[in-house]
Amino acid sequence: MKNPVVYLDYNATTPVDPGVLEEMIPYFSVKYGNSSSRHSYGFEAESAAKVARKRISALINGDPDEFYFTSGATESINIVHQGVAKAYSSQGRHIISSNIEHPAVIESLQYLKQNGFSISFIPVNSEGLIDLNQLGREIRKDTILVSLMAANNEIGVVNDLEIIGNICSEKNVLFHTDASQALGKLEIDVMKMKIDMLSFSGHKFYAPKGTGGLFIRQKKPQIRIAPFFFGGGQEKGIRPGTLNIPSVVGLGKAAALCMELFSEETKRIKSLRDQLFEGLKKNIQGLVLNGSYEARLPNNLNLRIKDVRADKLMMELRDLAFSTGSACASGSDKPSYVLKALGLDDESVYSSVRLGLGRFSTSFEIDYTINRITEAVNKIRNYPQNKRN
Ligand SMILES: *Cc1c(COP(=O)(O)O)cnc(C)c1O
Repeated sequence: MKNPVVYLDYNATTPVDPGVLEEMIPYFSVKYGNSSSRHSYGFEAESAAKVARKRISALINGDPDEFYFTSGATESINIVHQGVAKAYSSQGRHIISSNIEHPAVIESLQYLKQNGFSISFIPVNSEGLIDLNQLGREIRKDTILVSLMAANNEIGVVNDLEIIGNICSEKNVLFHTDASQALGKLEIDVMKMKIDMLSFSGHKFYAPKGTGGLFIRQKKPQIRIAPFFFGGGQEKGIRPGTLNIPSVVGLGKAAALCMELFSEETKRIKSLRDQLFEGLKKNIQGLVLNGSYEARLPNNLNLRIKDVRADKLMMELRDLAFSTGSACASGSDKPSYVLKALGLDDESVYSSVRLGLGRFSTSFEIDYTINRITEAVNKIRNYPQNKRN
């Protein structure tokens, strides 16, 4: 029998948890009501959505009334950027972000730039961290929004949301965070961290793809978002369209599982991640971690391996599923702008790989991975054409 491929790409997506799937199934068939309908089928769907709203809000310490279901982070981010830009343009047209944000953030802000907004993408240092003093200095009288991710999808580097939230609130600027990589892996508290808007996708934490959400603060301050879509008024007109109840139910269950498992799970995954890092460091000369180790998601490694092209490594390792430093943007092989932002040259970027662990990773898989990567690196370094004279 063929060995199963070891999945090491949890920063790209996760499988739906069996417990999540189980709760979803009846909502495809017997409990198929439209949550807007005023009869028992509709009420059943509506109350399922209400439970999900509560569960997700609990995960981020938000109010269920401040939560909106969407198709995922990309949609949530666009609703926030375009909606805030439109609603607040009379107060200013300046927005601050960073140069290692996800394309959903960068591209949505580039679109605003083409439409008369001024965008400051603040740089990161070689560890992948932004200078928080610089953030303070960049805020101007006409700044309406700061959009900074909670954790980076490629290098796993984490921003200090509490400090950023305090800076923004002192200067009276709205703060949005793309928390797609953070939910379930880091503690997120929209009250303590003074987060005004937060967006995420379900498939990064064991809920289905094509489902996600958006938190928009309604009290202190009450945030105005000009609608981006128009329709039947669902989700208070912010995201009209019939709710995808099975997915919404799955999202809620996934959030509940994350809360329940959080401390045990993050500890276990971090220790597997460290086992992997230590094992590889011990076996492989010239292996370096990209991005800060301390300010980092517990499940992520982004490694560069001197003189080993990641695409060659991938070809040798068909039994492992991981990403390279170039394949991130829709299969293009342009070098990752995130790794370039750390100051890496093209050669280093092309020698970088991302390994992401998760709920179903095992210690056995980690040992297997250490052995297989070590073997492949040795093999590549011994190719006659790769030998340096
Ligand atoms: C995955 C991801 C997104 C986009 O999520 P979609 O599900 O593709 O909309 C945005 N930001 C970050 C940090 C991500 O990891």
